[in-house]
Amino acid sequence: MQDFVDIDKKNKQYQSLIEDSPLAIYTSDQDGRLTYFNPAAVQLWGRVPVIGEDFWSGPWRIHFPDGRPMNLSDSPMAKALQQIARFENQEIVIERPDQTFKRLLVFAIPTFDDQGTFSGTQNTFVDITAKTSYETKQSVLSAIVESSDDAIISKDLNGIISSWNQGAQRIFGYTETEVIGKPVSILIPTERLKEEDNILGQIRQGNKVKHFETIRMTKMGKLIPISLTVSPVKDVSGNIIGASKIARDITEQVEAQASIKRNAQNLELLNSIGKVILEQLEVKEVLQQVTDVTTQITGASFGAFFYNTYDDNGEAFMLYTLSGASSAQFESLGMPRHTALFKPTFSNSEVIRVDDVTMDSRYGKNMPLFGMPSGHLDVKSYLAVPVVSTSGEVIGGLLFGHPEVGQFRAEHEDLVESIASQAAIALENSRLFEEIKTMSDKKDEFIALASHELKTPLTTIKGYLQLLAKKKQDRVNALFIEKTLDQVAKLNALIADLLDVSKIEAGKLQFNLEHFDLRLLLKEVMETFPYTYKTHKIIFHDANEPAIVYADKQRIEQVINNLLTNAIKYSPAADLVEISLFKDAEVVTVRVKDYGIGLKEEHKSKIFTRFYRADGVVNVSGLGIGLHLTKEIIDRHNGQIGVESTFGVGSEFYFTLPANGG
Ligand code: ADP
Repeated sequence: MQDFVDIDKKNKQYQSLIEDSPLAIYTSDQDGRLTYFNPAAVQLWGRVPVIGEDFWSGPWRIHFPDGRPMNLSDSPMAKALQQIARFENQEIVIERPDQTFKRLLVFAIPTFDDQGTFSGTQNTFVDITAKTSYETKQSVLSAIVESSDDAIISKDLNGIISSWNQGAQRIFGYTETEVIGKPVSILIPTERLKEEDNILGQIRQGNKVKHFETIRMTKMGKLIPISLTVSPVKDVSGNIIGASKIARDITEQVEAQASIKRNAQNLELLNSIGKVILEQLEVKEVLQQVTDVTTQITGASFGAFFYNTYDDNGEAFMLYTLSGASSAQFESLGMPRHTALFKPTFSNSEVIRVDDVTMDSRYGKNMPLFGMPSGHLDVKSYLAVPVVSTSGEVIGGLLFGHPEVGQFRAEHEDLVESIASQAAIALENSRLFEEIKTMSDKKDEFIALASHELKTPLTTIKGYLQLLAKKKQDRVNALFIEKTLDQVAKLNALIADLLDVSKIEAGKLQFNLEHFDLRLLLKEVMETFPYTYKTHKIIFHDANEPAIVYADKQRIEQVINNLLTNAIKYSPAADLVEISLFKDAEVVTVRVKDYGIGLKEEHKSKIFTRFYRADGVVNVSGLGIGLHLTKEIIDRHNGQIGVESTFGVGSEFYFTLPANGG
């Protein structure tokens, strides 16, 4: 009796063990019809089957672990039935009625009754979905880490490296075994070691360091720019146990940025050089500036500009300017005009850029040295760019050298070519300018000489005429002598003006300064004027107070005379000229107003330049130098001169002088 009770109790224990098991368990008869299932099985299947009716396999679709569909007859449960054999630890994937998937380990075992006859199967499913998805996630993650181009490194809170991916090996050159357990500081240049302390400090506080751009060192000691993101790594309970680092090699990015910046700078440079050299009119200055600038931007250790030019006799010779080398150092080069390397630049306008000139096939072929003489500037990198005129003629060449190989890049070649074409224009301009300047110098010399030569006979003529005038003459003769003397005076004034102009050009116009009353001077001039010009009446608007200035009295008289003469000359149809004097604390102003032909707007500023005459005055005699002289005199007295004029109505010239000498 006791035994029976015990068996019953045990059965109940087994039953609850199965009922409460987290594993899905079910049994089937020989045909596969369900005879029992536990709650965990219901949960796994996602439905409640009917005992004795449902087949174990009814609602399912089964797949192999790699996702291929599996025939029901191939399933471990079916095989256990068919073959009456145990199928254990078999992995399958089931698709449930709600179309979710479960990955299972199947244990299908045949069962027998008391007589030992086969009665069905008992099946246990272990759900391994969660485990495998975690493993898959892990393996996907580690595959990502491994295949990343970035260096992904983890370290503990003391900065000791604990993991190292392929990217890290590629960027830093160390293999995983070389660095694990080593301090991360092996990657940090000495002067940046403090950075690591800061980073670790941030990590200990749970902060992330994002996109920190810095420099790190490879196994070979090469310094590379990187962008660093460092995040704290926490254990399951949230304690910070280390840090993960993602380092991106930003060499290319930095280079691209630098190249964009360089291009922008180069453009700006080209622009400003263009302006500077085009404004420059002296050939030597153009050559020097172009040499300096191009040497600087190519990073050459020296640069030279060879320029074909002609001397006064039309003979060609070569001028050169240097940058980064003295002419003494350079002269030891000899004039390399006809060497195989040098000649193509000048004869065929070829750009030559070589990384190592001593390895070039054209090098060392020339007598007598077959290479560079001793004491020669050390040249490996070589760049030669022709300077070609707008008409296509090679007018010079720019040459650069550097003692190290491979210094000159295509970018340098382009820049020098652009500057060379600007230089060609600038040189043509200065050539033209120099030609004009020589002509103009010659003209100035001629004027000085001619006016001097003319003055001497004229003074003699004047002397004889004055002697004649003193002798008793009949009325006609006396009139003729008087008229001749008038003309001599005019000629004298003209020659004096010419002489003054050549003195201005030579910088030799001198002044005798004194204090005097400009008001009195004006009155004196006015008194003498009516005798010379009888056509016009001159009215003086007085300031009614003294106007003391510190100036060259004769020269100021010359200015007043000049303005008055012009006012009369250029108002043939009028009969009035007005002179006014104004005075304030700072300046005295004299204004000379006429009612004559006036000036067009475009002539107003130009009439003060040498030899300039407004159009429409051809029938009025003059050389166009009076106002030029006048302006020079007033400028040199720190005064101002100008004109207000309406074409066809009249003009008003004015000048100022500092009151009381300023
Ligand atoms: P010149 O009178 O010998 O030509 P100036 O230097 O005195 O030389 O004057 C330069 C030019 O300025 C003159 O040729 C004329 O065209 C213009 N000019 C000068 N004064 C007057 C004026 N009062 N009215 C109109 N045009 C004038």
